[in-house]
Amino acid sequence: MFKELSKGPHRRFNPLTGEWVLVSPHRTQRPWQGKQEDSAGSGRPQYDESCYLCPGNQRSGGQQNPDYSETFVFTNDFSALLTDTPAISMDTDPLFQAVSETGVCKVICFSPRHDLSVPNMSLDAVTRVVEVWKNEYETFQANPDIAYVQIFENKGAIMGCSNPHPHCQIWSSSSIPPIVAQEQENQRLYAQEHGNSMLVDYLKRELEQQTRVVYENANFVVVVPFWAVWPFEVMILPRRHIPSIDQFSSEVVSGLADAYRQLTRAYDAVFDCEFPYTAGIHQAPTLAGDHEHWQLHMHFYPPLLRSATVKKFMVGYEMLAAPQRDITAEAAAETLRRALVEKKP
Ligand SMILES: [Zn+2]
Ligand SMILES: [Zn+2]
Repeated sequence: MFKELSKGPHRRFNPLTGEWVLVSPHRTQRPWQGKQEDSAGSGRPQYDESCYLCPGNQRSGGQQNPDYSETFVFTNDFSALLTDTPAISMDTDPLFQAVSETGVCKVICFSPRHDLSVPNMSLDAVTRVVEVWKNEYETFQANPDIAYVQIFENKGAIMGCSNPHPHCQIWSSSSIPPIVAQEQENQRLYAQEHGNSMLVDYLKRELEQQTRVVYENANFVVVVPFWAVWPFEVMILPRRHIPSIDQFSSEVVSGLADAYRQLTRAYDAVFDCEFPYTAGIHQAPTLAGDHEHWQLHMHFYPPLLRSATVKKFMVGYEMLAAPQRDITAEAAAETLRRALVEKKP
């Protein structure tokens, strides 16, 4: 039945968001005369004196970075959320509602080395990054003002990332952000109806079919979701039911680091470039409560379509009606699997 899908336009349903994506496999043949992005070459120095994330350098806020040798965490000098925001609530007029939001925004440098990124860091070094994520989540869990912790990495100038130094961000907020709330509600309804976690059931089916699986280790599976929107969109899913990162054993921590590293190595091999993406973890809120319907997962949304310089645009029909993709999720998974084999030493 999945083979039939590659023959013509169809819609696929995303049960996490409740949205549909239009898939048009026949369009991959159309000529491209649009914008070509400049391919961002690597060849960066190990240390850049003008980089505000390199060890020992001064940041624009005036603070000096320590001479760190592994990871380094600091509160963003230009945080989008602040702890001391005055409380405002505007909820009497249904057309003009607003409410104040508090939170903390942190930056996590993955490595002192300016020239590295996840695919060429050692497994130990990436494991330390996941350990930091776990520690940060646990710290915010103990903070009653925080409801949700969003861990995310923006990689590449094409994604608006302002600095190539390997780093990610953690924004914690006093409310649950809308995309997370939507996925939470759909997971809750699924668990209510089927008595099981949605993504646990979903992974079972993916492992049976194997058509969209890119990589597996003892604790995680990397899949191109059936409902993927971005050409090489991927999800990393735990094999077992784990609502949030604080429940990771040390083995699971290094399992996620391995999946993260192998996937980004495959990405780099697809178009022989430093593959840009936005990636992030969705997981149970830090608020007290029943979060058993939650299954932690990591999304990867890379913008590239056909080469290091041709990106996908979400414009026109996609801004006004529904997201649309040309290559099928099955074809993208096949490309990523092949890239991973090429990348292996
Ligand atoms: Zn740097
Ligand atoms: Zn999600």
